[in-house]
Amino acid sequence: MKSMFELDVPVPSKRSLIVRNIKEVSKEQREIALKKTEYSMFSFPADMLVLDFLSDSGSSSMTDLQWASLFHGDESYGRNKGYYVLLDAIRDTFERGDKPKKVINLILSGETNVKTLMDELYLKAFKGGFVNGGVHQLARPNAFIVPQGRCAEHLLFSTIASILKENNPNKEYYIPNNGHFDTTEANITANGIIPINLFSVNLFEDFPSDQMDVKNPFKGNMDSEELKAFIQNKGVESIPLIYLTITNNTAAGQPVSLKNIKEISEIARSCNIPLFFDACRFAENAYFIKKFEEGYNNYSILKIVQEMFSQVDGFTISFKKDGLANIGGGLFFRDKGIFYKKFSTNGNIGTKLKEKQILTFGNDSYGGLSGRDIMALAVGLYEVVKEPYLAERIRQVREFARKLANNGVPIVLPAGGHAVYINVEEFFKGTAMEIDDFGGVGFTIELLKHYGIRACELGPFAFEWDKKTPEQRKGILNLVRFAVPRNVYDTSHIDYAVAAITELHRNRDKIPKVKVSRGINLRLRHFQSGLLPIYTNEN
Ligand SMILES: *Cc1c(COP(=O)(O)O)cnc(C)c1O
Repeated sequence: MKSMFELDVPVPSKRSLIVRNIKEVSKEQREIALKKTEYSMFSFPADMLVLDFLSDSGSSSMTDLQWASLFHGDESYGRNKGYYVLLDAIRDTFERGDKPKKVINLILSGETNVKTLMDELYLKAFKGGFVNGGVHQLARPNAFIVPQGRCAEHLLFSTIASILKENNPNKEYYIPNNGHFDTTEANITANGIIPINLFSVNLFEDFPSDQMDVKNPFKGNMDSEELKAFIQNKGVESIPLIYLTITNNTAAGQPVSLKNIKEISEIARSCNIPLFFDACRFAENAYFIKKFEEGYNNYSILKIVQEMFSQVDGFTISFKKDGLANIGGGLFFRDKGIFYKKFSTNGNIGTKLKEKQILTFGNDSYGGLSGRDIMALAVGLYEVVKEPYLAERIRQVREFARKLANNGVPIVLPAGGHAVYINVEEFFKGTAMEIDDFGGVGFTIELLKHYGIRACELGPFAFEWDKKTPEQRKGILNLVRFAVPRNVYDTSHIDYAVAAITELHRNRDKIPKVKVSRGINLRLRHFQSGLLPIYTNEN
C-alpha cells in the first residue's frame, strides 16, 4: 500500500540536452540493405535503424561531466595527465569503498600547485593493490590499459599460455567460468586452453515476472559444487585460473551474489588458483547485490564493489560497458598476489604483459587510447556508481522485460542488468523450427526488416552448435539478446520494441529458417559469415 503523497512511478534521474533524429527508412529499403549485407546483423548500416539493441558495448551516452572532461585530454606520448587520473580512479572505484580520494578533481579544477600535483598524483607511490603507483608500477607493472576488453583477454591468455607451455608442453589446461563471454572463450581457445562453463543450476527455473522488484535468485552464480568436482577430477595443476563474469552476460546477463563470489574465492584460494573477474558490468552487479542480497541494503555501491573485488586476485574489464565510456579496457592484478607468484617463477609476469602491451597496443600510459578517451573513462567510473543512475538503468531493463512477459513473449526471468533475453526454444514451441534452423537468427532478420530494430542471436549460430560435441552443446543456451544502451532510450523506445516483438511472436510460424551461406567455418563466425533466410510459401 502506498501512503498519502507517495507516488508509484519512479523519480526521473536525468534530462537529455542533445537530440539525434532517427531517419525515416522504408521496409523495402531495409530489405535491400539486408540482402546486400548478407543478412548479417553486424553488417547492417546502423544509420538506417530505428532502434539498436545489438550491444550495450560502447553505445552509451556520455554524461555532461564526461563530455566536459574531454577538454582536459592530454595527447602526450609519455605519461599524459589522464593516465594518473585513470589509475587513481581505478583505485577509488575498486579498492577504496566509501573513501574515494577523487584526485581527478585536481586536474578538472586546474590545480596549479605543482607540489600538490607531484605529491598527490604524479609521483605518489602505491603498492599492494590492483594498481601499483610511482616507482612500484615501474618495477612491478600490474595495471594495463588497452582499447577493449578482448585486448586485455588477449594479453592475459596469450602470455600465460606461453608460460604454461614452456613449463609443460603436452598438458591440457582448463579455465572454468560461470559463463564465458564469446571473446573470452575465443581468446582462451585460440591459446590452446579449454574454456569450461559452470552455469548455475537454477538458470532456467521459472520466475514470476511480478516478483522482479521483490527478489532475485542470482542465476548468474557459478555452480560451486561443480567447480569442486571439476578441480578434483582434472587436478589443481590443470587449472591456471578461475573466472567469474559479473554480471553473467552469456547466462542472460544474470547477476552474481556476494555469497557466491566468496564461496568461489574460498575454493580458489584453498587450491592456490588465482580467481579473476571478467568485471564488465561490476556496477550493475553491485546494484543487484544492494537491492536483493540480504545484508547489503545499507551499503553504498562503492562499498559493495570494494567487498566484491577484495575477493579476487585480478580482473579483465571492458570499460565500454559499465565505464559509460565509448572505448577502453584493462587488465589488473593484485601486487604480489597468487597470480603474480604463480606466473613469475621464470621472470616477472607483469614485465611480460607490459612488453606485449607495448608491442600490440601502445605504451603503458595510453594503451591504444587517446588522451580524451582516457579522461572520459576516468570520469565515467565516478558516474557509473551513482545510485540514481543505476536504479533507473536497471528499472528500464526490467520494465522492458515485464512488458514482454505480460504480452506472453517467453523471456529469461528475472531480467538481468543490461539486456532482455528471449528464450528461443520456448518462443518457437509448437512450430517446425529445429535448433539447427537458427530460428533466433530468423527472428532477428524479420525484426529488422519489418520494424528497423536490431537485436543479436546468442545461441546455436553464435556459439557454433553444429560444430560442437554433444558434451559442449550442453553449455550452449538458445537466446536472442536485446542489449539496452545506457542513457540512450526512453519509454517510447521500449514500447515500440515491445509492440514489434509481440507482433512477431504472434506470427512466429512465419519466421524463416536460416542457412549459413558463406563462411560457416570461420572463427567467431557470427561477426563475419553470410546468412540466407529460407522463405517458403507459408512465410
Ligand atoms: C563485452 C564483453 C567482453 C569483451 O569486451 P570488448 O570491449 O567488447 O572487447 C568480455 N566479457 C564480457 C562479459 C563482455 O560483456
